[in-house]
Amino acid sequence: MNTAKSTVVPEVAATTPMLERARENLRIACEKLNIHPDVIEELQAPRETLAVTLLIRMDDGTRRAFPAWRCRYNDRRGPTKGGVRFHPNVSLDGIETLAFWMTFKCAVANLPFGGGKGGVCVDSKLLSDTELERLSRTYIEAFASFIGPDRDILAPDLYTNGIVIAWMADEYSSITGHPSATAITGKPIAFGGTEGRVDATARGGYYALRHLEGSFGIDPDKATVAIQGFGNMGYHCAKLLHADGYRIIAASDSMGGVYDPDGLDPLSVMEHKHETGTLVGAKGHGKTRRISNADLLELDCDVLVPAALESQITTENCDQIKARVVLELANGPVSLEADARMTAAGRLIVPDILANSSGVTVSHLEWVQNRSGYYWDASRIRNALKTTMETETQAVWALHNEIGVSMREAAYVHGLRRTAESVEARGTKAYFE
Ligand code: NAD
Repeated sequence: MNTAKSTVVPEVAATTPMLERARENLRIACEKLNIHPDVIEELQAPRETLAVTLLIRMDDGTRRAFPAWRCRYNDRRGPTKGGVRFHPNVSLDGIETLAFWMTFKCAVANLPFGGGKGGVCVDSKLLSDTELERLSRTYIEAFASFIGPDRDILAPDLYTNGIVIAWMADEYSSITGHPSATAITGKPIAFGGTEGRVDATARGGYYALRHLEGSFGIDPDKATVAIQGFGNMGYHCAKLLHADGYRIIAASDSMGGVYDPDGLDPLSVMEHKHETGTLVGAKGHGKTRRISNADLLELDCDVLVPAALESQITTENCDQIKARVVLELANGPVSLEADARMTAAGRLIVPDILANSSGVTVSHLEWVQNRSGYYWDASRIRNALKTTMETETQAVWALHNEIGVSMREAAYVHGLRRTAESVEARGTKAYFE
């Protein structure tokens, strides 16, 4: 197991804008590579961000205003690509940060895309279905000239599920007169979506983990796993690992979690959740007990999978994390400072920009299929995804060992190298000298 020391990262105040904190990754990666200053200059800020106010007629006849954004961070490798989220915490800073991360994620996965992101500041749980449809369609109306199959491509994210995406794609088709809506991925299969999308992101993280199993010294028949967040990602990851012999000892969602050292069956835990609305009370193979989200993170296990929210592991709790490997399925679950401390302590963190790059990888395959008009079966999608994940995971692992940095830094170096090549290919200051 590699015990490379991570770069020392100074503690950054929680009030520092998110984008500024995220750019720290860029600064660290630049230190490792001989990057031309033109490239660094270009990646400091988004290329463009459009801010609008969506005015929605509510069911009771009133009109309400919702702030909304779409950011194209960098498009040197191709059209920008990124999800659109509906959440009360959505802000300009958050959207630009997510678009920054997408720039590197697409490069790590070697996709011909740059990074983008969008969102609306709204608690969509408080909207009726008709209000939600009006909001989804109005978002597309507002951003129709900003997005496009060769410019900026949308995908689902928090609280933008299949039907929201279908309304958005339908609106885009109406506006453009092109029924295939190639500017939007994550569509239902009957509306130009792809096979294999439902579990794609979790499956990619699973391929990455299985690929590095030997290097991590993990034996699937003995390994234990704790999963925070039992939604799409957490559930599918648990199911895949369980089928390969891993013991899932804990799982949680926003209502709390369950712990059973003898193991849980993900399918029966999910059935319990469907029946009762919570995981709490689900039975495993031994003495199952309730566990809080905070305690789950600190369990003694081989693999910890944060699959819920950002900033779950920080300097507050990172010294209590006992898992040997952390597989980041959520975006940004481990803070930069916590990553540095945990890496120095010999823990291995498979970073989000690698572990969940599978979502955008399969979105790319949807875009390719929409453009060619020829659709693949699920096994072809899975094979293509497996190849991409194994190739890029191996590349990041090799860099981690070669230059003695954390896997996160290695992933940023890997992505930056590709992005820099695309910027430099258009000429830098050196050309004019
Ligand atoms: P989801 O909504 O299906 O599931 C999220 C789960 O997290 C739910 O079970 C929810 O109850 C749980 N949760 C919420 N707050 C929690 C808390 N405080 N503690 C523990 N659990 C909590 O979402 P998803 O598609 O599984 O995505 C999870 C995360 O991964 C999100 O942050 C998302 O942005 C990110 N992500 C998703 C994809 C994808 O393709 N689905 C791709 C990349 C990144």
